[in-house]
Amino acid sequence: MTTKDTSKHPCFNKETAGSCGRVHLPVAPKCNIQCNYCNRKYDCVNESRPGVTSGVLQPFQAAEYMDKVLEKEPRITVAGIAGPGDPFANPAEVLETMRLINKKHPHLLFCLSSNGMGILPYLDDIAELGVSHVTITMSAVDPAIGAKIYSWVKDGNVVYRGEKGAAILLDRQLAAIKGLKERGIIVKVNSIVIPGVNDDHIVEVAKVAASWGADIQNIIPLKPTADTPFAELPEPTGELIVPLRKEAKCFIDQMTHCKRCRADAVGLLGDDQSASLCGTLQACSK
Ligand code: SF4
Ligand code: SF4
Repeated sequence: MTTKDTSKHPCFNKETAGSCGRVHLPVAPKCNIQCNYCNRKYDCVNESRPGVTSGVLQPFQAAEYMDKVLEKEPRITVAGIAGPGDPFANPAEVLETMRLINKKHPHLLFCLSSNGMGILPYLDDIAELGVSHVTITMSAVDPAIGAKIYSWVKDGNVVYRGEKGAAILLDRQLAAIKGLKERGIIVKVNSIVIPGVNDDHIVEVAKVAASWGADIQNIIPLKPTADTPFAELPEPTGELIVPLRKEAKCFIDQMTHCKRCRADAVGLLGDDQSASLCGTLQACSK
């Protein structure tokens, strides 16, 4: 396996954000849970937030698209998969994509972003494929609070709701953090701050994430989105977020430069090119 410089991930290392870019390959349309803030849709350039993409690619299409992206933006150092659903609700597509990219571009860092629900059976595959960075989105460590965030959780063919679903998800997330760390993978925990739901619980999430070995936390303000149960909630401002990050930093390092990117984000964090590459992605998806 090629030795990679793991410091060249712009999300995990702020110093490299101006010189190293990432591409999100949208190969994972399905999800195995439903968060009350999520509305996934296909959109070319109008919206910039997680879950939005201008198209979905098959693995071989993602490999072609990757070639084209690198021609246009050679500063890309990271190939990531962040949806538009969850990578491990689409494991065959995700692993095949990683295999193809690994074969053609072994110098790239590989990154996955997941809710953690379905990742456990694939931990060894992830490690063998050389995935160096994984994000687990965990916004509650108390099932009573989780039950307000997730409307359902699907385990195989069974759908769980309420605290039972939130408890299953939490168990998987904690086991995922532990299993990833046992395999030497760098782990970030994304925690969405939802006013009136978990804002006074986020520091507890930081404590628990740290105790299970996570390396860094990314406290992200909710982006209220139309046609979701949280559409009418206020978007948290710095007044709420900055003190939370300060308190959470006592337990775990903090990411402070997240751009809440699309599922087809591409380029430097501060210079996203998904709009200009929208046509390229759509051409590859046909
Ligand atoms: Fe949406 Fe991600 Fe939640 Fe799935 S895990 S419902 S894709 S935000
Ligand atoms: Fe990085 Fe945040 Fe964008 Fe993910 S959403 S690629 S963590 S800046």
